[in-house]
Amino acid sequence: MSQPLFIEEVTKRYGDFTAIDRVSIAIKKGEFFTLLGPSGCGKTTLLRMIAGFNSIEAGTIRFGETVINSIPAYKRNAGMVFQNYAIFPHLSVFDNVAYGLKARGYTKENIEKDVEEVLGLVKMSEYKDRQPSQLSGGQQQRIALARAIVIKPDVLLMDEPLSNLDAKLRIEMRSVIKKIQQNLNITTVYVTHDQEEALAMSDRIAVMNLGTVQQIDKPLEIYTRPQNTFVSNFIGISSFIPCTVVGNAVSLLGHTFAIKLKKQHTGEAILAVRPEEASLSITDNGGIPGRIQFATFLGDFINYEVELGGERVIQVNEYLKEGLAIKQAGDVVYVSFDHKSVNLFTSDGKESLV
Ligand code: ATP
Repeated sequence: MSQPLFIEEVTKRYGDFTAIDRVSIAIKKGEFFTLLGPSGCGKTTLLRMIAGFNSIEAGTIRFGETVINSIPAYKRNAGMVFQNYAIFPHLSVFDNVAYGLKARGYTKENIEKDVEEVLGLVKMSEYKDRQPSQLSGGQQQRIALARAIVIKPDVLLMDEPLSNLDAKLRIEMRSVIKKIQQNLNITTVYVTHDQEEALAMSDRIAVMNLGTVQQIDKPLEIYTRPQNTFVSNFIGISSFIPCTVVGNAVSLLGHTFAIKLKKQHTGEAILAVRPEEASLSITDNGGIPGRIQFATFLGDFINYEVELGGERVIQVNEYLKEGLAIKQAGDVVYVSFDHKSVNLFTSDGKESLV
């Protein structure tokens, strides 16, 4: 039976190095929750602590009401899927999936029924007599998933499960995993460094850096309202421009506009603009004058690097529409911002002001 998962003030040290620093996360029953962050931020370490492969120095991890700190890995009812599949090469597909049920002493009839059922779920029923060496990477990962869910785990833990697959299959497998997870309503913790994967699959995301949680939110909030410059920079593209704030007026490069602040602030700040939050005009419409430095054609839009006021470069996307001419390096443009959607941070980058 799937359980909520509580990580409370959890710490992990390797010698003097703190890999996880007092992290607290409450994951709801049935939630698809992703730990996202750059290499070395501690996401695998935290997942392994939940699984029982890493000890917990301080803090508590609970599956529902049960504190699992001192329960050994094999007794925690967690299903685990790894990047390298980790299925047994000498066992058939059927026996790989049956493994956990046999270890739990299920009867032959029950094992057959449950294995058939999950193989159906991952669309691998016809392959049950094959050896793993006769399967593609995507098929092996479906078997690894089947093996993890067949035991009806309290939580499903996945560590970069799609990293070894080619780009097309990776996108296809996102929806395979997500649909099965939703169908079974299974509490899932998913580790990835791929922001697009995290945004596409998750109910909520914890963005991590240097062993700490930077923000926990739904994908849309993480993208549209990052809570500091680390998140704003790690997820998607942001151009950062120093500015000054007085009241609700933001001034930069000789231009001033109003912005709605959630917090009073006076003085230096940082404006963060996504490429789709800025627009270009070739006539002077009151925008900030700039010059195109570089244009990249990307199919349905063109990405421009624009030098602003001779000192800053920002990225602006322009979507294709009839009559649109691609601008050239050196062209003079006037840049305007969507005041409602841009973000504003304190000058140390640690706090959002909007
Ligand atoms: P990646 O995406 O590269 O796997 P990650 O975010 O999963 O990175 P972890 O593997 O959790 O990062 O590692 C977090 C930090 O802890 C890293 O700086 C790593 O070097 C360190 N670390 C991990 N395992 C050990 C260990 N057994 N001994 C010492 N340091 C370790």
